[in-house]
Amino acid sequence: MEEMHLSRSAAELVDRLERTGDLSDGEFADILTCGEPGFVEYLAERARAVRERAYGKEVYLRGLIEFTNICRNDCKYCGIRRGNKHVERYRLTEEEILSCGDIGRKLGFRTIVLQGGEDPYFTDERMVSIVRKLRERHPDCAITLSIGEREKESYQRLFDAGADRYLLRHETADREHYAMLHPKEMSFDHRMRCLRDLREIGYQVGCGMMVGSPYQTLSHLVKDLRFLREFRPEMVGIGPFIPHHETEFADQPAGSVEMTLRLLSVIRLLLPDVLLPATTALGTADPFGREKGLLAGANVIMPNLSPTNVRGKYLLYDHKICTGDEAAECIRCMTLRVAKTGYQVVESRGDHARRRAENP
Ligand code: SAM
Repeated sequence: MEEMHLSRSAAELVDRLERTGDLSDGEFADILTCGEPGFVEYLAERARAVRERAYGKEVYLRGLIEFTNICRNDCKYCGIRRGNKHVERYRLTEEEILSCGDIGRKLGFRTIVLQGGEDPYFTDERMVSIVRKLRERHPDCAITLSIGEREKESYQRLFDAGADRYLLRHETADREHYAMLHPKEMSFDHRMRCLRDLREIGYQVGCGMMVGSPYQTLSHLVKDLRFLREFRPEMVGIGPFIPHHETEFADQPAGSVEMTLRLLSVIRLLLPDVLLPATTALGTADPFGREKGLLAGANVIMPNLSPTNVRGKYLLYDHKICTGDEAAECIRCMTLRVAKTGYQVVESRGDHARRRAENP
């Protein structure tokens, strides 16, 4: 109904985005800022139609194991950055990680995500051992890694050990903006190099950015969209920036939920088959953020599988949700929440459409 009120030019822009993905920078900016009544709903409606053509009503779950909050990096926005002396640091043992994986598999997860800070303890040997054992125990599960920047040889060894997917947000496609968010020793070029290495090795690759990160402008977001269009990742993780009180960005405003939802819809239209999570950050910024994300074009949810005794220590930002619930409770809660949106949680690896033939 709402689209009746849209101007012809706004509707045409969305139509062209869907057909070609080829908008000018100014047109991308128009889509991100259009204030016409009903525009955001129309965008979401079109994004849902595209996601339903690619993935039907299915929502895929990823069981997230946050296995270490020790990090050698000092990213200015991140609560577990090296310089934060007020974090109680932890790392799970191999046994604990494997046991989380077993619990996840029993609960119905078919993707296990190992995420952590860049903890030097987890050398290639240790990571290979964990990945190999997970692979042996759960041959029908996808193994996703999100352990930051490593050298190509290291990524290759982990892939050969059985990892399928890798999440490494590019954070921002603008070099200067990258430098404002990170300390001098971190390099935009190396991050981009890592993404290309992962792609060349054969991983399903995820990148992404925070929405509303400090100093971010509209043209940065347009650049991000151009980067996503060119790189064509299998997965894109975006969520609002949320300040953490022990960082230099403590007093910066949080990113906008509305802009995050708009971007989810635009990304779905740009990359119809993309695996797009409605992130925990979105659920933290808005109590119904994840449901809204699904209704804007997202098709993945990443419930937490970490042991409850460490949940409250993996705090990238303030007020993070679901830090107290058992994994079984998280999955039950998310299944009900997803059902209320008209979508349905399924027990599936949920591979990217381009890569499904490899894992029938
Ligand atoms: N160390 C790995 C890496 O660099 O990819 C994985 C963990 S890292 C903490 C995961 C993601 O959390 C980052 O890529 C960043 O986008 C997001 N993040 C960190 N701090 C955040 C904040 N304050 N608000 C929202 N998201 C944040």
